[in-house]
Amino acid sequence: MDRLADVADCVSGTANKSARVAVIGGGYAGMAATVELARSGIPVTVFEAGRVLGGRARRVETDDMRLDNGLHILLGAYRETLRLIDLVKAPGEPAGFLRLPLELTIHPAFRLRTVHLPAPLHLLSALLCARGIGLSDRIAAARFMAWAQRNAFRLASDTNVADLLTSRCQPEAVSRFLWNPLCVSALNTPPAQASGQVFLNVLRDSLNGSRADSDLLLPTLDFSALFPERAARYLQAHGGSVRMGFTVDAVLRKDGGFELTDDGTRFTDVIIAVSPHRAGALLAHHAELASIVRMIDQFVYQPIYSVYLQYARGSRLPFRMGGLEARYSQWLFDRGQLCGQDGLIGVVISASGAHQGLAHDVLARAVHAELAENFPGLGEPRWHQVIAEKRATFSCTPGLSRPDNATPVAGLYLAGDYTASDYPATIESAVRSGVRAAKLALQND
Ligand SMILES: Cc1cc2nc3c(=O)[nH]c(=O)nc-3n(C[C@H](O)[C@H](O)[C@H](O)COP(=O)(O)OP(=O)(O)OC[C@H]3O[C@@H](n4cnc5c(N)ncnc54)[C@H](O)[C@@H]3O)c2cc1C
Repeated sequence: MDRLADVADCVSGTANKSARVAVIGGGYAGMAATVELARSGIPVTVFEAGRVLGGRARRVETDDMRLDNGLHILLGAYRETLRLIDLVKAPGEPAGFLRLPLELTIHPAFRLRTVHLPAPLHLLSALLCARGIGLSDRIAAARFMAWAQRNAFRLASDTNVADLLTSRCQPEAVSRFLWNPLCVSALNTPPAQASGQVFLNVLRDSLNGSRADSDLLLPTLDFSALFPERAARYLQAHGGSVRMGFTVDAVLRKDGGFELTDDGTRFTDVIIAVSPHRAGALLAHHAELASIVRMIDQFVYQPIYSVYLQYARGSRLPFRMGGLEARYSQWLFDRGQLCGQDGLIGVVISASGAHQGLAHDVLARAVHAELAENFPGLGEPRWHQVIAEKRATFSCTPGLSRPDNATPVAGLYLAGDYTASDYPATIESAVRSGVRAAKLALQND
């Protein structure tokens, strides 16, 4: 963070324009808004409460090890995220992820992989050639996608994913190995509660687009380095500043603008890019925003747990990333193969479940037992760490109302993965939301 500390408080002066924008929150949404504004020559100050940029996708440092608070993946369909990473990275610098054709392994029972055929044949062949389920199951899965395409991935009225799959006669094995794991990892919501419409939106953009859209992008950098810290350097080069460790308590209106600090700095526009459960406190000062506060108050949250287990050097999984059919462990990441952290296995457990009732040590031991049973030879872990994000995302339920980026207060905007969009809470929805909020601020200029 040293370089970023240098960035702090270096407000500059590109500005012979009247606009001066404050962005509250240095997560993916806030930093996307920042880049979009800085690109247009608007002076921006980012206020970030934490000591590292990235919010819910950030680096966590323990001893000599750099971990992520959560083992994220990106998809080829994340166009805005990829565009902005490309804009802020140094020329010639690798983007920071491995791009792999979609492969969905649920060890030891199931495997689906796309092949080098043009869309949509890449998907059709993947479904029809999937291993571990019978021919009638594979045909049923292909029929589901064909039905969704015919209906332009639109439901007449939203329903939960479990009911949607039942109504489309999806066999148990197809739901268990394919649709349910996709639903839980994309929407972070159990199928019986998750929005069928949002699930179809995700299938539309990832599986029904071009072959590249379905690619998995597995990070080789931590998630602070991948975009937010590059964005901060881009901001600095464009005359803006980042104030780390600064919690904004209130956004006060003054003389047609806004004040956030005691030093009298006036902003023409403010983008509130904090997580939804933190937004209410900042919005509560403005009576016109009461309905937005009520909307956000309705949100229910889902957790994501990340369990890291450090095995002996040279210990490897048979894949870089894959699923496991087990009680707790859902997705496994071999950090040795991905980013050179030899012997380090990261395990993701999305959405609510029995794991929440376990002490972290007990959970880590249970996850280790599942790995040891499936991958003999791993040995005993030398250390483990469990990171529990209890409010990882909002619960993406049918018909959920989400607030717009624009608010009734002129010059005040919301950005974040929870604002209105047809996507669940993801990096891409956060980035798109930030870009939209920045465009609104630019129009207001
Ligand atoms: C464990 C985990 C795994 C995930 N896996 C994936 C995945 O694989 N793929 C995917 O696409 N998405 C994934 N997600 C979702 C994704 O991380 C989020 O959707 C996204 O990061 C949200 O970004 P955001 O900018 O909207 O909010 P946040 O990341 O929450 O950023 C808000 C920022 O505001 C700051 N802040 C809050 N209050 C204040 C204040 N008063 N003053 C100043 N600053 C403040 C916070 O410190 C934070 O940095 C995962 C999330 C988690 C938690």
